[in-house]
Amino acid sequence: MLFDLTGKVSIVTGASKGIGRSIAVGLADAGSHIVLCSRTKSELEAVAEEVRQRGVEALVIPCDVSNPEDIQHVADETVNRFQQIDVLINNAGITVKKNAADYELEDWNKVISVNLTGVFLFAQAVGQYMIKQKNGSIINISSIAGETALKGSIAYCASKGGVNMLTKGLAVEWAKHGIRVNGIAPAYIETPLVKAITEVRRDYAEKVEARTPLKRLGAPDEIVGAAIYLASEASSYTTGETIKVDGGWTALGL
Ligand code: NDP
Repeated sequence: MLFDLTGKVSIVTGASKGIGRSIAVGLADAGSHIVLCSRTKSELEAVAEEVRQRGVEALVIPCDVSNPEDIQHVADETVNRFQQIDVLINNAGITVKKNAADYELEDWNKVISVNLTGVFLFAQAVGQYMIKQKNGSIINISSIAGETALKGSIAYCASKGGVNMLTKGLAVEWAKHGIRVNGIAPAYIETPLVKAITEVRRDYAEKVEARTPLKRLGAPDEIVGAAIYLASEASSYTTGETIKVDGGWTALGL
């Protein structure tokens, strides 16, 4: 079965809520065991319970992706428990919204360390095992902000543009090891991150809906199909690609 993940082992970062939670549960539906990471253990435990209800195993490992030791710990513990890592979903991400001129170095470093350095270090830690296994699929969650600029989000845009090139760079370097590296670039998805804005500013949500060809924001579960495709044999000849799941956002000119 092309989209089957039975017996696979997938690490999902930022799995406690939003897109990460949906992907964790979606990959479990497809048969994968799931390692769930983020900083908040109690929220991860709740998602782990949803994962186990699918008849697969869930392992909770709290982790801050801006901490290299935490990242290595997740990779090592996953292999200790399951003896393999088939899929890495690099999903944890944050933003600091400020005008570029007002950006403090601390703001910049905070966003880049989670969204870009964390993605690289996680790929590297997991890649060491995948190279030995001679296979694996790494999926980096990018954003439309990786190729279209969003005002007030300079570090976020730079980090996601960086993630797109990281995806291509790792894909060409690790193809010889049987590791595929791809990305998913969503537009506005109604997660806690976005709801924090749209629930306060309905006008902002309306502006996004009007600008989106499909005339609505996306739901977290609408990212799952692309994740299963890229995680599974269905995408065996796809690497270095970032798939847009954006309601047509980047297709629109005027
Ligand atoms: P949420 O804010 O809803 O969830 C973010 C997740 O990341 C949480 O599980 C959070 O858990 C975790 N996280 C944050 N910081 C860290 C850290 N330092 N270490 C480990 N985990 C961390 O975000 P979304 O679901 O909206 O976003 C997920 C990804 O999708 C991000 O990369 C984002 O850039 C991208 N994206 C989102 C879009 C959207 O419209 N929502 C659009 C395009 C891209 P905890 O706080 O417990 O650590």
